[in-house]
Amino acid sequence: MEAYTQFEEEREFEVIDGNKKVKKYSKYWNEKLETLSREELEEKQLEDLKEIVKFSYENSPYYRRTFDEAGVKPEDIKTLKDIERFPFINKQTERDTQGVGSFLGELAAVPEEDVVFISTSTGSTGVPTMSPFTKQDFDEFQETESRWFWQVGMRPNDRYVHALNFSLYVGGPDVIGAQNLGALCIWGGTLPSERLLFILKTYQPTVIWTSPSYAWQLGEKAIKAGIDPKKDLAIKKIIVAGELGGSIESTRKAIEDLWGAQVYDFYGLSDIFGACAAMCDAKDGLHIAEDQILVETVDLNTGEVLKPGEVGELVYTTLRKHARPMIRFRSGDIGWIDNTPCSCGRTHGRIHINGRKDDMFIVSAVNVFPSDIEAVIRELKGITGEYLIRVFDKDYTCKYSVEIEKNADNIQTDEEVAAIVSQALKARIGVKPDKVVVHEDGGLNTRSEHKSKRIIDERKSKYEAK
Ligand SMILES: [Zn+2]
Repeated sequence: MEAYTQFEEEREFEVIDGNKKVKKYSKYWNEKLETLSREELEEKQLEDLKEIVKFSYENSPYYRRTFDEAGVKPEDIKTLKDIERFPFINKQTERDTQGVGSFLGELAAVPEEDVVFISTSTGSTGVPTMSPFTKQDFDEFQETESRWFWQVGMRPNDRYVHALNFSLYVGGPDVIGAQNLGALCIWGGTLPSERLLFILKTYQPTVIWTSPSYAWQLGEKAIKAGIDPKKDLAIKKIIVAGELGGSIESTRKAIEDLWGAQVYDFYGLSDIFGACAAMCDAKDGLHIAEDQILVETVDLNTGEVLKPGEVGELVYTTLRKHARPMIRFRSGDIGWIDNTPCSCGRTHGRIHINGRKDDMFIVSAVNVFPSDIEAVIRELKGITGEYLIRVFDKDYTCKYSVEIEKNADNIQTDEEVAAIVSQALKARIGVKPDKVVVHEDGGLNTRSEHKSKRIIDERKSKYEAK
């Protein structure tokens, strides 16, 4: 396998401005890699795919068994499309195989002595799963994170606050990617907001990464504490991840207006990298690291491979992770692939995420994602933007209700507000909520410092995609 640094190029240079030397930075972290032609990129993917499938077959008991059962061999990979003959894995595969046979489990393809780092998922959808990295896996993970930070404009003269959980969480180590880029890094973690605001005010950092709901709440808390985020703080860029908000335009704009800063969405999976994909300045989908990850979309029910542009479940194959290769991992995230040229010049495809398969519900034959509801709630005036969705059975069909908060200075009656919200939801999604409940400002218990719980599913039987 070729060294990953083969594409590294000069990204800092000096130009003469008048009679002064001025330092300039390249637009790309790794120009050659980020702007490969489709053919070159796919050639590189194919070479790595052949290698990782062979490595997995030879070293992972699980892959050897399931490839044999499916009647496929590493030599069957002659084009990228040949991956479609290989079996899927999913979260349950990870749970079923971890700890089997060895500490690292049957999916792993290296001995424990080669592993330098493990992260553990939150277990928000069941038993927590562990993700191991070799030294090379980890270094390439951080190299990819550096690329994302550079892509959103972080440079060595930035001060960066990493306000994500460091304990077990795969997003924690991403701060190393920023540090390797040369930024001054402040390992914030999950500090109480008063302390975080103190750091933002005292050290005047320019970039922060947190969840979208916390970015919003922190801005509101700053204002309540007499700090104007636009004037008193220096934050120019906010990276968000962990929830969909950063890809919902109205939510992103609301956070941008509150802070006077640019918001960029990052997307990660505990099973792969802290961030596998990231927005660029075009903010039209998230570039995925196609040198690291082969992405497919498949039909939710049949598993049939879909074309770019068609909405389905996103399936990932890691091309270079050796500790635990993920081959055709059904992520549970629903979205679509966009391989059309991006105005930023980067050639790696973009993904657009609609939501989690587990969060989707079907009302009168319409697929409803909580993110569609959020988009409406965040656009409307006179309400705070906080919301809670309930999904339940009524008269043998699935229904949903939405609870929102009215702004303290809103003079409309609750009935008027409820009618406006209901109509807006009907216009956007196609199906009206069964009911809209209006609370006072602060009446909903949805403000949290981590992932906010905004959907309560009271159904007895749920939609089960295979
Ligand atoms: Zn772009």
